[in-house]
Amino acid sequence: MMDNLWLERKRQGEEEQMRKETRKWGTPEDESGLSESEIRDLMCEIGHRLWVKDMAAANDGNISCRLDEQRILTTPTMISKGFMDPEDLVVVDMDGRQVSGKRKVTSEVRMHLLVYRERNDVRAAVHAHPRHALAFAATHTAPPPGVLNEVEYVLGEIALVPYALAGTQEFADALAPFIGLHQAFLIAHHGALTLGEGLIEAFWRMETLENYCAMLLAADPLGGVKRISDERLREILENKKKMGLFDGRCL
Ligand SMILES: [Zn+2]
Repeated sequence: MMDNLWLERKRQGEEEQMRKETRKWGTPEDESGLSESEIRDLMCEIGHRLWVKDMAAANDGNISCRLDEQRILTTPTMISKGFMDPEDLVVVDMDGRQVSGKRKVTSEVRMHLLVYRERNDVRAAVHAHPRHALAFAATHTAPPPGVLNEVEYVLGEIALVPYALAGTQEFADALAPFIGLHQAFLIAHHGALTLGEGLIEAFWRMETLENYCAMLLAADPLGGVKRISDERLREILENKKKMGLFDGRCL
């Protein structure tokens, strides 16, 4: 009982501290022109947000961001994403060779490198294991498109990637056909991946994905969600096109 109370207070204190420290990183615009040291701080902050929001238990998840054409900053293996320091992060080149950092790079770095090779528009990727998204990934259920306006704008259609052993070439091969068409992916029996022009956008997409999956499960006992008509969905897609927003369905 005491332990629980202590943990709860610790968590509340940490959340409060986080709110104070990180108000400066509220929007993707806050991310433009950051130095490498600030990007490192922001990546640790994004890791903390994942942990606080229950999207990365134990040492789950990994995060990456382009530093330049040749270098990717990413998270190390075997660390809670909620408690990383900037010096824990590692840098790899585009072939996955670790070029700096004392810790060992995440075993899932190939997934991130594949993203950067295939998508010039993407500067950051977040991989996590949020509970409701996992429920869809574990049951091979693709969340339906055309249900929520915001989800259409922020995520577009969510990919369902078949299972392959994490960290292997086979896994990268399973993901490859989907990379060019989506911003959010559910990976069967594993987790979720979201992409963005920056860390904040990639994280926002993870939040939206998890929130959407939770909503779908909440709607089930109410008879399940209704779909926006195809015609109205086309209207949204046309709007996205006009706004210059990426959507694989418009390519
Ligand atoms: Zn994973």
